Amino acid sequence: MSGPPPARDELKPTARRLWTFFKPHRRGLLAAFLAYLGAAATEPLIPHLLNLVLDQGFAATASFPLWMVPAVLISLFALRGLFGFLGQYLLHWTIGRTVLDLRRALMDALLRADARAFTQMPGGAAVTKVVADPQQAVSLLALSAVVLLRDGLPAIALLGYLLYTNWQLTLLTLATLPALALVLRKVNRRVRKVGSVAYDAQIQLSGVVDDVARAWRLVRSFNAEPHERARFAETAGHLRRQTLKQAAANAMSQPLSQLISAAGLSLIVALALYQGRQTGVTPGEFAAFVTALLGLMSRARHLTDVAQPITNGLIVARGSMELLDTPAEQDPGRGELPEPVRGEILLQDLRLSYPGGAGPALDGLSLQVQAGQTVALVGPSGAGKSSVIHLLQGLAQPDAGSILIDGVDSRTLSLAALRRQFAVVSQDIVLFDDSLLANVCYAQVPDPARAEAALRDAALWDFVQTLPEGLQTRIGANGSTLSGGQRQRLAIARALYRDAPIWIFDEATSALDTESERAVQEALARHQGHKTLILIAHRLSTVRHADRIFVLQAGRVVEAGTHAELLALGGSYAALVSLAAE
Ligand code: ADP
Repeated sequence: MSGPPPARDELKPTARRLWTFFKPHRRGLLAAFLAYLGAAATEPLIPHLLNLVLDQGFAATASFPLWMVPAVLISLFALRGLFGFLGQYLLHWTIGRTVLDLRRALMDALLRADARAFTQMPGGAAVTKVVADPQQAVSLLALSAVVLLRDGLPAIALLGYLLYTNWQLTLLTLATLPALALVLRKVNRRVRKVGSVAYDAQIQLSGVVDDVARAWRLVRSFNAEPHERARFAETAGHLRRQTLKQAAANAMSQPLSQLISAAGLSLIVALALYQGRQTGVTPGEFAAFVTALLGLMSRARHLTDVAQPITNGLIVARGSMELLDTPAEQDPGRGELPEPVRGEILLQDLRLSYPGGAGPALDGLSLQVQAGQTVALVGPSGAGKSSVIHLLQGLAQPDAGSILIDGVDSRTLSLAALRRQFAVVSQDIVLFDDSLLANVCYAQVPDPARAEAALRDAALWDFVQTLPEGLQTRIGANGSTLSGGQRQRLAIARALYRDAPIWIFDEATSALDTESERAVQEALARHQGHKTLILIAHRLSTVRHADRIFVLQAGRVVEAGTHAELLALGGSYAALVSLAAE
């Protein structure tokens, strides 16, 4: 991401896009602006009132009763306070609504994103882009918008007045603007550059923190605290330097523009005096002109001051909205499988290469699983077992070959229809920081009776009963309060709860003791014939009762048959078995 600074034009599409999120709530922004304008309108009334009080209040024949003084003053301040409150409230209302819409769109993009997005995203980046960035970007821009409106309108009014009183001199004044614009452009370019680098540095820093929070056990067991501390200090130091550069670039713009303005002003005053001597402009007119000009310049300075927040806001928004552009998962199929789904699987000549992979992960793999069969995939690691499982669920697409479920090509099915057929226990167990019940019934309507049955089958029910809060017990981030075996059994219960026709157990019982493993196997055996079951296991004891065993090597099936048949064959499987027996 960090590369050349984004050109002004590069931020334009971001601005346009962000506007589509602001647009539905633009009335809030307008209302906030009106409230701010109301608050500003009370300002001149206060000195005016003071003037009145000073000039007339001491006279014996004052034209107003004394009680009116506090009444009017208090009312005026109350009014100003009310307008100020409304302005802030409405502004934050608008920001809040816009941020909510943006965050939802970003989360949506994340949920739909193609697998590649996840393998390429730095750790913690998704959190930053969905949670922190929208708020920062929208706040910066909304605040700038208010300043633009609040100072822009009076600036236009003053400009009109100037043109009305002395158009020649006003036009001359405007001629100094290009110089100002040039300087601001230079400064702004620098702001964009350092801003982008600072944004990337912040994402990197989130990654470091994310690593430590996720892998805290690993960090401690490796005594890697000093290493992580150093890594953090380096990244944070980089961010600090970039942030300081950003601040310096921001801070530079104001004095520079002031200097240019002052130069312009002195020129104009000299010109006005010259013009006055020629054409007889009165000192009063001259004073009015210069006063209005000074007012315009002060407003204009506020306007130029918002260039930086706008640029910074757009940089943050751009980083965040890259997520919106992440290609979504391809889902061209529309079909549904005819009910009832039997769970028959036919893989024909599947080929798959990962980008950057050494060779093909699947190299013409074919296999057939009858409905209700229990089959096992075995073979050395890297043989392609997980890749088969990913392709089956449509988590990746094969380069060639086809997948048929109940004789229907999976490409004609929608991904949702395809994925509904599978309940998977994968190698890396993922649990949610929620109750046991919510973990078993993940994303489905919780049914405690069915959850109990699933937990019994997964040999976890006895444990659940020992817990004071039972099914409602919370299990901590990724099930951190459970043992490895318990986490695995909970994942099994979750798969069993999902009443899918095809079950996939990828090394699902590797962390179980022999007793629990036997209990799970017995439960699975009760479903044999009703469910298609695909087992991946290194422990050959787990797979010997399978109806059919497929031995994979280098992305293809090299042997297939029952345990007895394969032993008799005396090939790779027999070699694996004798190795395991040693
Ligand atoms: P198994 O599950 O049998 O261990 P995999 O299906 O995980 O095998 O891997 C098959 C091959 O594909 C391996 O050589 C592995 O290095 C490679 N591979 C798997 N996932 C990726 C990936 N995301 N990017 C690149 N190569 C991968």
